[in-house]
Amino acid sequence: MLREHLEEIESNIQSACARAGRSRESVRLIAVSKTQPVSAIEEAYALGLRDFGENKVKEMLGKESQLPEDIRWHLIGHLQTNKVRQVLSKTVLIHSLDSLKLLDAVDFEAMKQRIVVEGLLEVNVAEEESKFGFLPEELWGLLNRLCQYKNLKIRGLMTVAPFTINQEDNRAVFRKLKEISIDTRWNTLDNISMDILSMGMTGDYSVAIEEGATIIRVGTGLFGARNLGEDGQ
Ligand SMILES: *Cc1c(COP(=O)(O)O)cnc(C)c1O
Repeated sequence: MLREHLEEIESNIQSACARAGRSRESVRLIAVSKTQPVSAIEEAYALGLRDFGENKVKEMLGKESQLPEDIRWHLIGHLQTNKVRQVLSKTVLIHSLDSLKLLDAVDFEAMKQRIVVEGLLEVNVAEEESKFGFLPEELWGLLNRLCQYKNLKIRGLMTVAPFTINQEDNRAVFRKLKEISIDTRWNTLDNISMDILSMGMTGDYSVAIEEGATIIRVGTGLFGARNLGEDGQ
């Protein structure tokens, strides 16, 4: 099953890249393995996947300790400040930096651990009540603080687009995130880059790629349905 799913996703990625005039290498697939057992991750690993996304710290750490060291773990879910310490050295990229308090905590803890941590600012582009993330207009108020961070490097933006049946419905959301990422105001900060755009999930990753996604996060399209009740997504 996994092999067929991966082949289909890969073919969709290639088509979307071709339509957008982009190279296949410009898009990275992250396998969202939340709620999936270690055995499913092992199967995906055997097919060559190395980037996995988890939304809970405890679950990520539990799996990380049982799986090969060359897996790149991405934290994609809301992170509580009291869990920052445990997770920093275990993740290659925190996609879900969604509050000033969290940004401060990550930079501070990374300084204590003497490491540099990379992360993305989560943006609630569609301004949904139920979603985490900065509202687009809130981002510019962060610039003064972001430029002071020495151990947290912002690499770009992430969004969780609204749930939709028709992926075209999210095209405007993805286009807006791309527009925000190329705003010249970021250029005033030399410790920040905007080279990563993490957007697009099972239902809408093709459109996200057409609009500039450099990372897509695919869960159910790869692993099949998640256990109900384990999480809200
Ligand atoms: C669960 C989740 C995904 C993957 O969702 P699918 O629709 O299963 O592909 C992607 N991003 C985040 C932040 C998630 O929580």
